[in-house]
Amino acid sequence: MKTGKRSVCPRFLLLAVAGVCAGHAAGLTYWVEPCTRPAEMACKNGDPDLAQWAMEAWQAASGGKLQVERTAEKNQATVKIYWASGRAGLYGETRGGDVFVSPAAGEGILREATVYLTCLHETGHALGLRHTANFEDIMYNFQYGGDIIKYSACYARKLQRREDIRKHPGMSRNDQKRLAAGL
Ligand SMILES: [Zn+2]
Repeated sequence: MKTGKRSVCPRFLLLAVAGVCAGHAAGLTYWVEPCTRPAEMACKNGDPDLAQWAMEAWQAASGGKLQVERTAEKNQATVKIYWASGRAGLYGETRGGDVFVSPAAGEGILREATVYLTCLHETGHALGLRHTANFEDIMYNFQYGGDIIKYSACYARKLQRREDIRKHPGMSRNDQKRLAAGL
């Protein structure tokens, strides 16, 4: 993307484009595709909650620098989160502000954990975060090794029920620092 003179926040192009930058609380509007056809879309009705919790977790991790707001109007959103079975990579893919999450198969808390962590990772990209080589970071790239299901299982052990996800944001101190440094 060419940013020209607007490249004041080079790591956070989306926020720069949205006209918000360092020194201000960055407002960001996002939209989550409703799971209207679960069988066809491979999502579950509750998956949009997981995407919302991921965005709220980034807001909480930003120490007040990032304000996210969910909108029902897709056209007004800077970040758009789609359920994209078969269209994205194995778990997800992000192109600019378009986030594609491939909902995991299966049932129960491990699936919830995997979909949530995928949302968190992919929306992290939408906020400008790149991959790291630290296994404990949500922005870790599994190309460095390891197994995403084991990573999710480790996280899922903290959860009794899906609502507990809101108490366990899932990112590391390093993820938080990198987010704050770019806002
Ligand atoms: Zn990634």
